[in-house]
Amino acid sequence: MSELLEFDKKHIWHPYASMQNPLHVELIKSASGVYLELENGEKIIDGMSSWWSAIHGYNVPQLNEAITNQLKNMSHVMFGGLTHAPAINLAKKLVEITDESLEYVFFSDSGSVSVEVAMKMALQFHQSQGDTKKTKFLSLEKGYHGDTLGTMSVCDPVTGMHTIFKDVLHKNLFAPSPTCSYNEKWNDKYIATCRDIIEKNHEEIAAVILEPIVQGAGGMNIYSPEYLKAVKLLCEKYNLLLIFDEIATGFGRTGKLFAYEHAGVIPDILCVGKALTGGYVSLAATITNDKVVKGVEANGNVLMHGPTFMGNPLACSVANASLELLLNSPWQKRVLNIEQVLKEKLSTCRDLDIVKEVRVLGAIGVLELNKNVDLAWMSKEFIKEGVWVRPFLNLVYIMPPFVITEAELDKLISALITVVKRFEDKS
Ligand code: PMP
Repeated sequence: MSELLEFDKKHIWHPYASMQNPLHVELIKSASGVYLELENGEKIIDGMSSWWSAIHGYNVPQLNEAITNQLKNMSHVMFGGLTHAPAINLAKKLVEITDESLEYVFFSDSGSVSVEVAMKMALQFHQSQGDTKKTKFLSLEKGYHGDTLGTMSVCDPVTGMHTIFKDVLHKNLFAPSPTCSYNEKWNDKYIATCRDIIEKNHEEIAAVILEPIVQGAGGMNIYSPEYLKAVKLLCEKYNLLLIFDEIATGFGRTGKLFAYEHAGVIPDILCVGKALTGGYVSLAATITNDKVVKGVEANGNVLMHGPTFMGNPLACSVANASLELLLNSPWQKRVLNIEQVLKEKLSTCRDLDIVKEVRVLGAIGVLELNKNVDLAWMSKEFIKEGVWVRPFLNLVYIMPPFVITEAELDKLISALITVVKRFEDKS
C-alpha cells in the first residue's frame, strides 16, 4: 500500500465509515472526461458523477478557465456589506431559469446548509407573522435532505439516523414514501395518509419538505408527478409552505431542468446544490418567492443566517460557467438518450431472481435488489470491470455524467449487470 493510502487509513475519516476499522478506499490520481484514474494508472468510468454533481465530467476546459480566471482576480470576500459580479450574475441566471415566482436567492456552502436555510425561512415566515405554533415539518419516509442536525430531522426516520440522535432531533412528521410510480394511473388513495396527517396536524406544521419526483439517497424512489400536485393543493388549503429539495435532481438529471417541471408544481422554496458548479466546488442556493420574503420580514424581522463563505466568488464563477455550458449544450437530448439506453438495457435485469425492481428516469438507473449488497466485495468487482459504482443498502444505481458516450454507457451498464449477476450467483 502506498504511503498516502496508509496515512489515509490511519488518520482520515471517510463518509459513514469506521475510523478504527476502515473499508478500503481507492486513491484517485486524476479525473478527466468520465474517467477516474487509479493509483496504478488504470482509468475507470465514473457511474456516480461524484454523487450527482459532475454532470459535464471532469477536467472541463471551460470550467477550469472560469475558476482560474476568477482566482487571478479575487478568490473570496465576505458577503456581509459587500457583493460582486460572480454572485450577481449567478443569482440573475438562477432567477431566469427557475419559475418566474422564484426571485430571491440565498447562497450557502453546501446542500445541507441550503436546506437548513429553507427550514429557517419557513419557521421565520410563520413566526414573524405571529403564528408561533407552526414549528414542525412534514417530510416523506425514504427522504434525504442532508446530514446536519436540522436536516437529519426531516430525513427518513429509519434509515436517516434518527435512532442514534433521537433525543436531540426536532420531532417532525412523516408521510409514507409515495408508492405511485412515475407513469402509473393516479388514484386518490396515494395521498390519503399524507392528507390525514396534514388535516390533523396543520396547525403545527410550518412546511412540507420533499425531493420532487426522485427520492435519492433515502431509497432511490421515482414517483408520480400527480403526487406533487396533490401535496401542493393541501399546502395551499392549510397555509403550509412547500419546500422542494432539488439538490440531487436539479440541472437536468431527470430530463427536465428541474424535477418540479414534470408536474408543473412550483414550490415556495427551492434548494439547489451539487451540479450547480458542475461538481467543481461546494455551493448551494435557496431560492424563494415574494410571499416568503414578505412573510419572513413581517414586523421588521430579517432572515437570520449568514455563512462565512456565502456567495464565494470562485464557486459562483464556476457555477456561471457550468450553467452556460449546460444550457448551450444539447443536455436534454443527451439525458433522454441515456434514459433510453438505461431503459432498454436494464430491463433485461427484470428476469434476474435477485432483482426486485428496475427504475429509470432521465440519467438515473436503479436496480433494487432483494437483499443488501456486500459493499466491499461489490466495489472491488466493479473496479475489476473498469467502472466506479457505489451501491448502498439493496440499491445498485448509476447517474453518469451527461457527456458519457454511447460506448462508455454500454460498458458501464454491462459492468453493472455482470456484477449484479455475479452477486446473485454468490448469494
Ligand atoms: N439533499 C439531497 C436531496 C441530497 O441528495 C443531498 C446530498 N446527498 C443533500 C441534500 C445534502 O447536500 P450536501 O451533501 O451538499 O450537504
